[in-house]
Amino acid sequence: MAGILDRKVALITGAGSGIGQATARIFAREGARLVLADVVEEGGNRTLKMVQDLGAEGIFVRCDVSRGSDVEGAVAQAVATFGRLDCAFNNAGIEGQGGDTHLCSEENWNRVIAINLTGVWLCMKAEIAQMLKQGGGGAIVNTSSGAGLAGVPHMPAYVASKHGVAGLTRAAAIEYGKHGIRINAVCPGPIRTPMTGRMFEKRPDMEQKMARAEPLRRMGEPGEIGEAVAWLCSDHASYVTGLPMPVDGGFMAT
Ligand code: NAP
Repeated sequence: MAGILDRKVALITGAGSGIGQATARIFAREGARLVLADVVEEGGNRTLKMVQDLGAEGIFVRCDVSRGSDVEGAVAQAVATFGRLDCAFNNAGIEGQGGDTHLCSEENWNRVIAINLTGVWLCMKAEIAQMLKQGGGGAIVNTSSGAGLAGVPHMPAYVASKHGVAGLTRAAAIEYGKHGIRINAVCPGPIRTPMTGRMFEKRPDMEQKMARAEPLRRMGEPGEIGEAVAWLCSDHASYVTGLPMPVDGGFMAT
């Protein structure tokens, strides 16, 4: 039986780890042809092997999303290899350093904004240009966060970057709807990935606290984000655009 992304060409950033890797595996299961982008080759190549083992076609492209030339190169590679680009999951991101707003360094601020927000914009810029060149149509999903919908203390740059992604998603959806390009975001709650693993190493009490705060009383798994992204990229979500979608165990309902 054909998957919901059958033959679609999909670019995934931050594909070497966590949510990006799990999503790549789900896209492979659903029949997508994959362009896996990450700043770290080792993780990216590991994910490539996983999707190939699942029978998917794919390539790995080294890409730092905060560099416009890298991003343009990744989209060009997609077109050179598969002839087009149908979907993109702009997911690469970093947590940066935690701390009060008045103690956040300019260096931390600039780095987090460059990767989490400028990176998403650079990806959208190159992807939308390619989709328009193809004659329109396409689906883009950006990774925002629960921290893109509500204030979370002690991570000012991260919260600002993720609110920025949610706003950019809404605005671009309005601009490109007439071209059949749908643009949505996922806003994950706490998900068990290397990113949260690093945060819990510093604050071991956080894991239980976060899980207890969720109506579903647990953290999420990376594949639970990937399933939502696959649906948003598929034709099953054909009337959904401009939505920063919480996938968070119900936290935003509290
Ligand atoms: P992760 O396991 O750290 O994966 C992020 C991936 O992005 C890593 O492979 C990372 O490489 C890569 N990356 C970092 N900087 C990059 C750059 N400049 N260009 C390209 N790739 C880069 O984290 P995750 O938890 O899966 O997070 C994925 C996304 O979900 C992020 O945008 C994050 O903010 C968001 N999110 C996560 C959670 C959560 O609870 N986990 C919740 C809400 C939102 P390195 O390993 O070398 O850094």
